[in-house]
Amino acid sequence: VAGLPQSMAMPAPALSFEFFPPRTEALEQQLWACIRRLEPLAPRFVSVTYGAGGTTQERTHATVARLVKETSLTPAAHLTCVGASRDEVDEVARRYWDAGVRHIVALRGDAPTGEETYTPHPEGYAYAADLVAGLKRIGDFEISVAAYPETHPTATSAQHDIDNLKRKIDAGATRAITQYFFDTEVFLRFLDRALAAGITVPIVPGILPVSNFKQVKKFSAMCGTNVPDWMGTLFDGLEDDAETRKMVAAAVAAEQVRLLQANGVDEFHLYTLNRADLSYAIAHILGARPRKG
Ligand code: FAD
Repeated sequence: VAGLPQSMAMPAPALSFEFFPPRTEALEQQLWACIRRLEPLAPRFVSVTYGAGGTTQERTHATVARLVKETSLTPAAHLTCVGASRDEVDEVARRYWDAGVRHIVALRGDAPTGEETYTPHPEGYAYAADLVAGLKRIGDFEISVAAYPETHPTATSAQHDIDNLKRKIDAGATRAITQYFFDTEVFLRFLDRALAAGITVPIVPGILPVSNFKQVKKFSAMCGTNVPDWMGTLFDGLEDDAETRKMVAAAVAAEQVRLLQANGVDEFHLYTLNRADLSYAIAHILGARPRKG
């Protein structure tokens, strides 16, 4: 792993930002303030998540449709196949196509809460690779898929998981976006393994700025992301000090992205959590500057 760069002479990276569809009017306003702040950075695309089991279908669609109509941004709609028939999923995809949306982040989704193992819908797309193939039959979508540097929690092995990623690419996906991670070395080794498996499309690191350490620790345990001890030490004692936590979060994320950049990574996907401040700072540190006009 190369060290932190001494100068920022590197070209500005390609960025994408991820949002989630708002549940209330107040959250809607927060999201749109975030979008307007980040828009001048001219990201390659912005994506909008799909609630567990498709629970935000309408809200995701509404947010994506508004992005098409009211902004200069290129939206990507997340779409999962869990708990739905192929016809239902195809219908959602067709609506996107008709609304002018040409980029889908194709995912399987998680088993519903309370169910220990994932069971495909009897008439559904069983896995994300099947969904990718199905979407390609509907329209020539640009398709991104999920990748797991620390292996998907239910995968039978790391190799099986890489083989699965390869199947998604072979089915028509042209980009993988990773689960968030904190260990740069783990990500770089994952790139090596993906390349060895014949995966040559961009694998874009998903960067999560950590402003609420306690929450991230809990969530990471569920999604299989290792939270290094040094992070616990950095956030220790800041439970009731949101302001300092945010500064520490910015420092942690800045170091992570600069280290990745120094190791040749030139594309980043930022999990904004619908807040612009940390994402804007990270993008700025990476070299992004607002477009004039
Ligand atoms: P898949 O690629 O289908 O893989 C899931 C698991 O099944 C893996 O362990 C894989 O190895 C295994 N597998 C694949 N094929 C087979 C097979 N034929 N037989 C047996 N096992 C197999 N979730 C949401 O609900 N909404 C979102 O908007 C959302 N966005 C996300 C964005 C990103 C960038 C990431 C990384 C994740 C996102 N998720 C989202 C979470 C995702 O839905 C879960 O991680 C889910 O458990 C796996 O989805 P996948 O698309 O990776 O599934």
